[in-house]
Amino acid sequence: MLVSAKDMLNKAKAGKYAVGQFNINNLEWTKAILLTAEELKSPVILGVSEGAGKYMCGYKTVVGMVNGMLEELNITVPVALHLDHGSYEGAKACIEAGFSSVMFDGSHYPIEENIEKTKELVGICEEKGLSIEAEVGAIGGEEDGVIGSGEVADPKECKMIADLGVTMLAAGIGNIHGKYPENWAGLSFDTLDAIQQLTGAMPLVLHGGTGIPADMIKKAISLGVSKINVNTECQLAFAAATRKYVEAGKDLQGKGFDPRKLLADGVEAIKATVKEKMELFGSVGKA
Ligand SMILES: [Zn+2]
Repeated sequence: MLVSAKDMLNKAKAGKYAVGQFNINNLEWTKAILLTAEELKSPVILGVSEGAGKYMCGYKTVVGMVNGMLEELNITVPVALHLDHGSYEGAKACIEAGFSSVMFDGSHYPIEENIEKTKELVGICEEKGLSIEAEVGAIGGEEDGVIGSGEVADPKECKMIADLGVTMLAAGIGNIHGKYPENWAGLSFDTLDAIQQLTGAMPLVLHGGTGIPADMIKKAISLGVSKINVNTECQLAFAAATRKYVEAGKDLQGKGFDPRKLLADGVEAIKATVKEKMELFGSVGKA
């Protein structure tokens, strides 16, 4: 059964480790992540962007697929199904469809409007026992077509949003979605520290986990980051393994064209990436 991300993240914050959010794109992705979480006895958050939700034929299809897998694969670790960078309408649709967690990304609204909309969604989530993530200070790179420049959030605005009763808070600290540019300035730990000072026990979320060096990840966790989003890294690993399979001509040997064979190396590559991240984040054995 799907659970809210609240307990797993509060435990992570108290225990100074982080739970990974791994975005899903299809059945293979979902299966790879769930099996790895179960094998490593790690809690896990499955992230779904609005674009990926549409691709997978809508939120109800996603909920049906994930719930089916939890049962058929005998998954016993805590699993949250979370809308990633949701719009106000998208968050409501996911709550309706059976997600156990949503992110409302109101970072592009003026702070007053972000507060107003976040507050309403917090009320709905509280009533239904769901977790909700809010965002302050747009995160750089591309979020489903929206390009941000890697802003740094205002800690006082973070405190205002945290006080609305959100479960976890994403704040821009110089992090970027997708691949990091050569001249990236790194994470702003001063900002992160200031945000944690003001928001206390609130689990903080680090978006754009792909390509942040391991020592920066560890430092971010020590400063209150309890949820780290990984998306691009699984995509790169899947693509590289699939390319290798095809370039080696394996799809032309015997029944190598069978999709279950054609995608198998990519699935293993996702599993290896998820394992590596769970070990780095410290969530192994914490289920
Ligand atoms: Zn993000």
